[in-house]
Amino acid sequence: MRVVFLGPPGAGKGTQAKRLADARGWAHLSTGDMLRAAMKAGTPTGLEVKAIVERGDLVPDGVVDALIRERLTELGGDAGYILDGYPRKLSQAKALSVVLAELKTPLDAAVYIDVADEVLVKRIADRAAKEGRKDDTEETVRNRLHVYQEDTAPLVAHYGAQGLLRKIDGDRPIEDVSSDVSNSLGLNGGAA
Ligand code: AMP
Repeated sequence: MRVVFLGPPGAGKGTQAKRLADARGWAHLSTGDMLRAAMKAGTPTGLEVKAIVERGDLVPDGVVDALIRERLTELGGDAGYILDGYPRKLSQAKALSVVLAELKTPLDAAVYIDVADEVLVKRIADRAAKEGRKDDTEETVRNRLHVYQEDTAPLVAHYGAQGLLRKIDGDRPIEDVSSDVSNSLGLNGGAA
């Protein structure tokens, strides 16, 4: 299947996307992971986006649209995959639909993991303590939640209108969320 994961920072998108991709043998395509790898390696893209990522703003569409176009083209038509953290704006959703139309591989679903703001702030603080991500400071987290509301939240209605949306309550134990995600996609047994 070809699935987009949506949800605010800290909702557990990355965790859930990894679990499901591993369980099904699908690719896990996280633009955040790709950008962090580019920053760490000091590539031209990494240098271009570093300051933007560290203050919690969105990098220019051109950067992430190109990364995703390249990966999807490499993967080819039969591959299952999860897009995690992309698209994050309506303009990116449109760029994605152009690539998918070219490849003749429409999306199967958009899984939206919903978590209340107070829970998100606490979760991100815990992740900051564990992973030491530079964009997990309190000020940056507030900015990322704001950016999410402004730019990314409209994608919920966008995919809802296409009949692709599967809304999941993300404020529960990881295993329970995983089995809801699998069930919502018609994957019996909640194998993730
Ligand atoms: P994430 O790991 O998905 O939380 O992404 C971390 C950061 O990478 C975000 O706060 C943005 O600065 C940047 N980023 C990741 N994906 C995108 C995207 N689709 N569009 C723009 N910026 C992105």
